[in-house]
Amino acid sequence: MAIIFLNQSECTICNQTLNEGQDIVGFPAMFKDNKFYIFNDSGFHRACLEKSLLGREALKYLKELDLSKNN
Ligand SMILES: [Zn+2]
Repeated sequence: MAIIFLNQSECTICNQTLNEGQDIVGFPAMFKDNKFYIFNDSGFHRACLEKSLLGREALKYLKELDLSKNN
């Protein structure tokens, strides 16, 4: 999972700091051929991801990763 330093790391969509108390989504390290590689090992505001189609797909992808982990 991405290492996110609250109040230091930036969301690369809006270039604003990821602050404590915000809804933040961290992506794991991915292979370069992954469709969502642009999100590789980074943190984003959930609201920023939800603004774009790819972001919404990435959230879904992340959810599936979590689900497969629990099985
Ligand atoms: Zn953002």
